[in-house]
Amino acid sequence: MDENTPAPAATDPAASEPADPAVADLLTPYPVGLLLHGRRVVVVGGGHVAQRRVPTLIAAGADVVLVSPEVTPAIEGLGPEITWVRRRFAEGDLDNAWYALAATDSAEVNEAVARAAEERRIFCVRSDDASRATAWTPAVGRHDGVTVAVLSNREPRRSAALRDAVVEGMREGRIAARTAAHHTPGVTLVGGGPGDPELITVAGRKALMEADVVVADRLAPRELLAELPADVELIDVAKLPRGRSATQETINQVIVEQALAGKRVARFKGGDNFVFGRGYEEIIACREAGVSVTVIPGLTSPVSVPGLAGVPVTHRGVTHEFTVISGHLPPGHPESLTNWTAVAQLTGTLVLMMAVENAPAIASVLLAGGRDAATPVAVVCDGSMPTERTVLATLGTLGEVLQREAVRPPAIIVVGEVVRVAHPDAF
Ligand code: SAH
Repeated sequence: MDENTPAPAATDPAASEPADPAVADLLTPYPVGLLLHGRRVVVVGGGHVAQRRVPTLIAAGADVVLVSPEVTPAIEGLGPEITWVRRRFAEGDLDNAWYALAATDSAEVNEAVARAAEERRIFCVRSDDASRATAWTPAVGRHDGVTVAVLSNREPRRSAALRDAVVEGMREGRIAARTAAHHTPGVTLVGGGPGDPELITVAGRKALMEADVVVADRLAPRELLAELPADVELIDVAKLPRGRSATQETINQVIVEQALAGKRVARFKGGDNFVFGRGYEEIIACREAGVSVTVIPGLTSPVSVPGLAGVPVTHRGVTHEFTVISGHLPPGHPESLTNWTAVAQLTGTLVLMMAVENAPAIASVLLAGGRDAATPVAVVCDGSMPTERTVLATLGTLGEVLQREAVRPPAIIVVGEVVRVAHPDAF
């Protein structure tokens, strides 16, 4: 069988025969990367082995000719992407081919294909017996322009596991070629997601692991910082001195200075950097200083935290909108940019962030503006963290419940009928 096909069950008599060690010794594959673009490749057989191989051949630009009286629906669905010769194999099918795959369930037919290939000096993969083939298909993975191909000595599961380990390592940035080409100084805004270290994006994790300097916020997933390589400098913004806006100026200055000093800077925040995250102020600062900036979005908490807690922000037939509002300023505050009277007239989902302290005032203005006191509310605290909990209330009882339950930030407050959908028994 070809290298990448899982071993048949032990009940298969062919499989229980131990490989002849003398033969095995001779089978040291010589790896190459075939450039098959525009070249005829003949696949004999139309079952599941062919189905798995053909898309890769198409992706490589091969001129795929598939010979089989019958094919799986998936192969049939490929339509004009391949030439399907709807009959049994004939020797002449291999004329002018560069590469062949014998992938029928008949050892006899596969043998005939292999023989015809040998005569024409065409390399041929076999799905039934790798020891009688002249080529093996490796377990293949691709990442960032690199193809990883693993050939073990006919242990397909081991090859696939190794392939997965290498590709995953590359994706997560654990396996990286620290080449000069990759070492481009600049700032990357990395959204860390709601807190669970598993909920960062693949690109975000990679950028963190490849950074020289990580500038992290209080809400950035802590556990990921513990995994940073030892030589990475960590600047914890929560420990910077002075007040709120002064701190932002200091952050802008730090990231710009580090990038200008030739470092790769990851600006690491909870959720997404642009959702009440001041990410764009950092972009402006970088632009003014001529520093290049890349953005890696993160899972933002107003959507992901309710989702994790089982509260959908929209539900068919219940709401056609969800509105995300920062509650860090109370309604009526001279610097508030929210028209709370207008918000009170909305009928859909409201998602309130940074609103624990001002929740009673917000609830009052919503009630005064006409929202029903019985409107269900879910408060999700520490979303995605081990301490996550959800507290239920109504608009009428919100202030009282927050106090009784001693709710502390970070919390997301979801107001609307979607909460009833998620908790029908509570309302
Ligand atoms: N940029 C972040 C939000 C920063 S503002 C994002 O995109 O998610 C900080 C507020 O986000 C908190 O006050 C809280 O309302 C919310 N928040 C962030 N992470 C949270 C979490 N894990 N659980 C609950 N609320 C969270």
